[in-house]
Parts: sequence; structure tokens; C-alpha cells
Amino acid sequence: MTIQWFPGHMTRAKRQIQAKLKLIDVAIELLDARVPLASRNPMIDEILPDKPRLIVLNKSDLADPRMTEEWMAYFTAQGHSCVAVDSSTGTRVGEIPVKAKALVAEKWARMAAKGMNPRAVRALIVGIPNVGKSTLINRLAGRNIAATGDRPGVTKGQQWIKVGTEMELLDTPGILWPKFEDQMVGYRLAMTGAIKEEILNVEDIAFFAIKVIASRYPDALSERFGVEEKERDLDNADEVVAIMEEIGRKRGCLVSGGRIDLEKTSGIILRDMRAGKMGRVTLETPEEAQAGEV
Ligand code: GDP
Repeated sequence: MTIQWFPGHMTRAKRQIQAKLKLIDVAIELLDARVPLASRNPMIDEILPDKPRLIVLNKSDLADPRMTEEWMAYFTAQGHSCVAVDSSTGTRVGEIPVKAKALVAEKWARMAAKGMNPRAVRALIVGIPNVGKSTLINRLAGRNIAATGDRPGVTKGQQWIKVGTEMELLDTPGILWPKFEDQMVGYRLAMTGAIKEEILNVEDIAFFAIKVIASRYPDALSERFGVEEKERDLDNADEVVAIMEEIGRKRGCLVSGGRIDLEKTSGIILRDMRAGKMGRVTLETPEEAQAGEV
């Protein structure tokens, strides 16, 4: 479900998370490893000002592993604790309670010095729609807890889920809005499937997908679709469209008169990309982040 994020929704979402912050020791900021910046809420530092924070790069099974390493180094250099996981299979999810506990180690030591017994670390998962919050909650809980689907402003009685003996997790995640003011961010999110196609034009999304993949992962296009490998000027829109047409021709997406059905082709491109059939691709780099380009 796509949420329309009106200003009132944002204020309410922010307030709901801030109310929950009083209950927790650690915030788990869930990002999509393929688009770690586009999937980041623009006000996150304001929403979680002083809370120890663990950044979890989810869907790392779909992201370029070398780039995931670079993103981990980027966030670590900013002083955040960070781990990359695949919530759909559970790969490395077990590191989350360990890292969450490490974030409160000093506070726990101070409590122990005062004679207080250590307790489970209390955590809240926050992130934009579709980043995998419910999947991760279910994975950490070891059973089906959270209903997938997003309704900002809808609350239910919240409960603590035990994750082993050392962590407790709020069963309802904090749902945040994405950075949709920036159109390029919108396209990146749409490429991953986080924004639905009713909002952005499918051919435009596929155009940007092909442009990014052709510049970063040219082999992916020849391997998946048999696109000819050659020097291209990807700043020239006609050349990008030519790649899309080549894919359409190879996939038999034709309309009468032998013209290419670009809409159908675009659908195939996006479906393949979201399912990881073009290989593991990351659409943003830390260099771009440092240059302020994303
Ligand atoms: P939420 O809106 O943040 O709660 O996101 P969901 O948990 O509903 O997940 C959105 C979609 O992403 C679902 O189709 C999940 O199956 C999928 N998903 C979640 N985590 C992963 C992951 O680590 N890898 C892959 N490949 N898919 C995932």
C-alpha cells in the first residue's frame, strides 16, 4: 500500500516515534542496502537525537556486496554501529541483538556499579514503508507478529517481543516517510519497489534504472538481456532509450508496425531488477553522498 504523506501524517508519525523513544534503549534504523540514502528519512537525526542507534542495511541479498562493505564503512565512520542483513532468510540477523547490547554496555556497567541488575535491551525498529520492518520483526521474533502493510497514524496496543534473553523489541515499528521531495530519490525508491508505479511513470522509472545499471553494472545488461556491450554516452537520453528498445526487441515486446512496446519493456526491466535478476546492484555510492549528489 502506498501512503500519501501529508504534513499532518509526518507530524503524527514523528510524535508517535518520539513517544516510543521513552520506552527504549536503542533505535534500529532500517535502510535498504541498495539505496541507503534514498531509503533514509530526511529528519532522522532530529527524530532520534540522543538515542543510541544501530543502522541495519536490509535486503543485502539484493545489493552489491562490495558496495555494502563501503556503506558499512561510511556509516561506521560517522560513529554509527552498523550491520548488513537479509531479513527474508535471516542472514546475519543474529548480530542485531549483539550490536544493540554493545551500544548500551557502558550504561549497563554504570547500572551494575549501582547494584542494579542488567535487563534486556529494549529496541524499536524505525524505517520507511517497504524497507522490511515487519519481515525483520518476524525474523527476530521467530514467528509471525507484525502485519505487513503501512498505516501511519494507526496504532494498536504495543507489546514487547522477546528476542532471546538479551533483547526486547516493540512489536509495532516506527513508520517514517521517505525523502520524496527530491525526484531522483523518488526514482531510486521506485526502482527498488518502495514507491508504487501509480505515482511515477513506469517508463521513466525503467529509464533511470537502465541508466544507472548501464553505467555501474554494464555486464548485467548483456548477461540478462544480451544487450550489446559498447561505449555509450548515457547522458544522451536517446542512447538510454536505445538500450530499452534493444531489450524490448529481444523480449518480443512489439506493437503493430514492429515498434517496441516501451511500457511492456519497462515492466519487464523493473520486475527483473526488483527480483535481483540483473544481479546484485546498489544504486547509490558513499562518494555521491559525500559530494552531496544523493
Ligand atoms: P515494511 O513495510 O517495512 O514492514 O516492509 P515488509 O516487511 O512488508 O517488506 C516489504 C517487502 O520486502 C516484502 O515483500 C518482503 O518480503 C521484502 N523483504 C523484506 N526484507 C527483505 C530482505 O532482506 N531481502 C529481500 N530480498 N526481500 C526482503
